[in-house]
Amino acid sequence: MKQFFISILSLSLLASCGGSKEYATITPTVPVIPNTPATSTYWQQHVDYTMDIDMDVNNYQYKGKQTLVYTNNSPDVLNKVFYHLYFNAFQPGSEMDVRSRTIADPDGRVKDRISKLGPDEIGYIKVNSLKQNGTALTYDTVGTVLEVNLDKPIQPGESVTFDMVYDAQVPVQIRRTGRNNNEGVALSMSQWYPKLAEYDYEGWHTDPYIGREFHGVWGNFDVTLHIDKNYVVGGTGYLQNPNEIGYGYETSTVNRPTGDKLTWHFVAPNVHDFTWAADPEYNHDTMQVPNGPLLHFLYKKTMAKDKLDNWKKLQKKAVELMQFYSANVGQYPYKQYSVIQGGDGGMEYAMCTLILGEGTFDGLFGVTAHEMAHTWFQFLLATNELTNYWMDEGFTEYFGELAGSQILNTSFEEATQRVYKVYFSYAKSGTEQPQTTHADRFNFNRSSSIAAYYKGYVFLNQLAYVIGEANQKETIKQYFKDWSFKHPTRTDFIRVAEKVSGLELDWYLNDWTRTTNTIDYGVKVINGDNIILERIGLMPMPIDLTVTYTDGTTEDFYIPLQMMRGEKPTSATIAADWAWAYPVYTLKANKAVKSVQIDPKNMMADINRENNKM
Ligand SMILES: [Zn+2]
Repeated sequence: MKQFFISILSLSLLASCGGSKEYATITPTVPVIPNTPATSTYWQQHVDYTMDIDMDVNNYQYKGKQTLVYTNNSPDVLNKVFYHLYFNAFQPGSEMDVRSRTIADPDGRVKDRISKLGPDEIGYIKVNSLKQNGTALTYDTVGTVLEVNLDKPIQPGESVTFDMVYDAQVPVQIRRTGRNNNEGVALSMSQWYPKLAEYDYEGWHTDPYIGREFHGVWGNFDVTLHIDKNYVVGGTGYLQNPNEIGYGYETSTVNRPTGDKLTWHFVAPNVHDFTWAADPEYNHDTMQVPNGPLLHFLYKKTMAKDKLDNWKKLQKKAVELMQFYSANVGQYPYKQYSVIQGGDGGMEYAMCTLILGEGTFDGLFGVTAHEMAHTWFQFLLATNELTNYWMDEGFTEYFGELAGSQILNTSFEEATQRVYKVYFSYAKSGTEQPQTTHADRFNFNRSSSIAAYYKGYVFLNQLAYVIGEANQKETIKQYFKDWSFKHPTRTDFIRVAEKVSGLELDWYLNDWTRTTNTIDYGVKVINGDNIILERIGLMPMPIDLTVTYTDGTTEDFYIPLQMMRGEKPTSATIAADWAWAYPVYTLKANKAVKSVQIDPKNMMADINRENNKM
């Protein structure tokens, strides 16, 4: 509510700045503005989950008990809370099902498959009881969201305990999560537990699950899992009883209790999700990253020999990936990371990833590079994926490519130009929507993917053009230092870039992410030693320009964008500022000019590069 009033206020302020005289007089009844800082104090909610799960691997149903200690660090009194029940999406007629059957380009893995699930194949979470500090609560299950009526409002700074008992069924795998997928993995368990919705400076985030994105609460997980003794489990937490389990986790002699089930006890500190997978046919290998975490690899031992060889070959490369990200973004903070064959695509989770296991080596490496990079861009820098999908996917894609090209000795520049090309065709397609569109609200799946993965990648690569390569690298590291274990926003990111570079960059964030404005600069005329450039697209940019003189010599120029109030570090000749509103700009060179090239490194996402040279 607070945010709502602020936005109404700023709207009326804007209206009064329109120049109309009658609004100019300030009435004396306006309250005195308090002499306190504005909303610069960051806060985030906190969860401590203790879960006990009893899994029946014959009917794929489980019983859950969950104690959640929830701490309200917000300045607001909370009158309700909400949980996500993601498994309810896998039922005929769910929003996810209907959206998949009505969008023009459905995900080929989903299509109409949900509509065909039988009662013993669907997913569900049925809450049997819920208490707040021991008092029974009423609640409504509305699709994938549990709406909870509190016994007492939760005060700022207060911690309350929610005790829940529920029954659940694992769906046949449709996407990401579920049982018995194409690669034969028994249980891929992501978004499988009643998960408290996040409340942040924008209020509640109770987005229904329509098959796309997430936003979770930071906290600690203590998970006890009772499962058939033949199943090998991998996932988010640190196993607390390795010598009662074995299966490659043991630290000394294995001493298993008797019985049909084993009890796995995991603890995961400072994460915002908990994921696991289990299969009776998992191989489990480990490899230590020097001065880093222990990597775990879980994959089906029943795969063909060449596929098994890929998993062996992957392990050393995964060590290199972990070292690359730790060196170039920030040190990986946990003790372990697990690469797990989940059997469907690839998806990032806390301390682990679930990936397809049976592709080519390049495919296996590529998906591991991407998903591991997500550890930084989502699981440590936990942006809200629903509203800023491009921040985790675009940054991840960029770093995955950067790491992969270094480790496999391929060309990062060539890969980057392929990414630009996809963005260019999207920008010209007439179907582009702003990157800040809610992830569920794109017209086409293809649009959301290009906006997030490709245009997000270009945003970060092009930032090196705008502020200089060294500043871009420093921005990433500072962003990690300032915002890991938090929920940064796009403004937080650009503020880091502004502070590192000393340049004003709000225009870059706004035009690129909140509009579909495009960049198009061109060379209009060369006349002796005069060069006339033109701005054709709406989006502003500073200009790198290489001039070749008639005597064969060349000179690099840099034309600052006036609204940046400064220049990137450059060895080029710095010309006068170009103020955005002026459609043309004249540069007087030192000698007769033969030819001119705008942005010779092709780092600017200029949608028409044909007119960049003359
Ligand atoms: Zn991704």
